[in-house]
Amino acid sequence: MSKTVFRNGTVVTANGPVTADVEVAEGVIVAIGEAIGSGGDDVREVDCEGLWVGPGFVDIHTHLREPGHEYKEDTESASRVAAAGGYTSVVAMPNTDPVIDSGHLVRYTIERGREVGLVEVASAGCVTAGRAGEKLAHLDDLWAAGVRMFTDDGDVVADAGLLRRAMDYLAQLGGVVAQHAIDPGLARAGHMHEGAVASGLGMYAIPSAAETVVVARDIELVRLTGCNYHVQHISAAPTVELVAAAKREGLPVTAEVTPHHLAFTDGDVRATDPAFKMMPPLRTEADRAALVAGLQSGVIDVVATDHAPHADHEKDVPFEHAPNGVIGLEWAAAVVNDRVGLDPVRFFEAMSVKPAAIARIAGQGRWLGVAEPANITVFDPQGITDVRDTRSKSRNAPYFGRSYTGAVRYTMYAGAMTYEESGVLV
Ligand SMILES: [Zn+2]
Repeated sequence: MSKTVFRNGTVVTANGPVTADVEVAEGVIVAIGEAIGSGGDDVREVDCEGLWVGPGFVDIHTHLREPGHEYKEDTESASRVAAAGGYTSVVAMPNTDPVIDSGHLVRYTIERGREVGLVEVASAGCVTAGRAGEKLAHLDDLWAAGVRMFTDDGDVVADAGLLRRAMDYLAQLGGVVAQHAIDPGLARAGHMHEGAVASGLGMYAIPSAAETVVVARDIELVRLTGCNYHVQHISAAPTVELVAAAKREGLPVTAEVTPHHLAFTDGDVRATDPAFKMMPPLRTEADRAALVAGLQSGVIDVVATDHAPHADHEKDVPFEHAPNGVIGLEWAAAVVNDRVGLDPVRFFEAMSVKPAAIARIAGQGRWLGVAEPANITVFDPQGITDVRDTRSKSRNAPYFGRSYTGAVRYTMYAGAMTYEESGVLV
């Protein structure tokens, strides 16, 4: 029987970090302790001295671009990128072509993930039919196919009555509505954050209020319905305050922040490089600091990448004409470690445990322990990630040419190594 033993790492368990070995056999953690698992011919020893050994990362905001936009990314390329970033599971966003608003497309998405076999692919489903914002999707059909997270990501669910009905229904089932919280009227024609930098550039811009008005309204709907509600890609300091207040009130409200909103500000947009164009836009240094503090304190529950590939011919155009979105699965953990500096427990909580809980992915995001599935990421908090190239089909990212402290060393999914620092396996 082949075994893997991760030796002498800082192992993040339900009782906190311990210095120990982790022994894996047949896809399961069979022992955690000192000097275990020796002997036998078929033992792979992995030296983890000085490294963190914790549950595999879970990204609850990934654009696989399949079906429909495979020239940007597909399930296979995205899975390789995710494995290299330390991820063992991703939640596919439903703004594909066709959009994922029915059960058979959910089953297709999950099955494609299984065929590739490098990460567990879960699928979000649309809130509205055709993602058109006019009537509800068949939420029962989506639920039966396994959807637990419902979102029209790429667009806000603007109609409060429609959203309320979705929340009434999903509150009974225990699903979560994830909102791309940007008011379309306030965001109309804007390309970046509304502030001094946009004024200097003479660019149409988007105020922070475009986000806060939606979240404030939606929190009222949470009070009305009791439905789980998740703020996607939170970007503005006042929104962090709204989420904090909702949590103090005991409402089932969670939030995610992207690596790029933790790393950059609207000042980085001055050169009008489309690699810094995304929705919501990069905001001010005060906003960035509020996001960092929110992630540290847990007001912002999780990191989610909003990995959004676009081809060069789409993105290499004047800033105003470029589509929104950047890739980031490969470097998210390094960026978070470098810019936020979480302790190992909070780090794995934000990268793995809470994302899996929000998206309700069983078997992922579980603190390491005996009999738990062997979905494991080994992270070096002192390592250096030099961003020079990518495994994605697309290259639209603001990270190229930069270095971040922190590096993914190994990723194990279902007991098999899917990545080690020399490159992707399989
Ligand atoms: Zn979005």
